[in-house]
Amino acid sequence: MHAIIDLPQWVIDENEKLPKFIESIEERMELVIEFSRKNIRYQTGGPFAAGVFEKSTGRPLVIGVNRVIPLNVSSAHAEIVTLTMAQKILGTFDLGQDGMPDYQLVISAQPCAMCYGAIPWSGIRSVVIGASGKQVESLTGFDEGPVHPQWQSEYRRRGIEVIENKRSADACEVLKTFAASGAKIYNGRQRP
Ligand SMILES: [Zn+2]
Repeated sequence: MHAIIDLPQWVIDENEKLPKFIESIEERMELVIEFSRKNIRYQTGGPFAAGVFEKSTGRPLVIGVNRVIPLNVSSAHAEIVTLTMAQKILGTFDLGQDGMPDYQLVISAQPCAMCYGAIPWSGIRSVVIGASGKQVESLTGFDEGPVHPQWQSEYRRRGIEVIENKRSADACEVLKTFAASGAKIYNGRQRP
């Protein structure tokens, strides 16, 4: 048995064309949101994207997208796809390993329950979020799952910086476009 998580060709191409450094957090988020927008346009996955950047310099390591439907993998959310790619590029399961620069995960929307749990396991040191989980649920109908009510403080206790509400209006626009397109909401079992 063999299972693969891959990125569509346009994402690979655009990763190769990224600027060397993206200094401001707002610009990093704008770029990630642009990937989420194109992921709908090119029908290569759901309306979400994520990027791993060197926190202090803004050097992009990789930007990835949601791949659930094209791969038939329910866990292929943007965060999981992107963290996996970053770990492959760096050759480590721990993105917070000693001797490496601090890495930051920039996500177009707040992590769902699954991704919320995956982030501390990845070792990443900083998370930047666009749309909130409530906005995702109200705009699209996805069920984000039982995220811990004090998720931010649980992250901070584990040394993970949390920055919310960056370019959330732009992230919400992508979610609205997705919902208006009548695209499939690929949640399996949702809460009653
Ligand atoms: Zn998720």
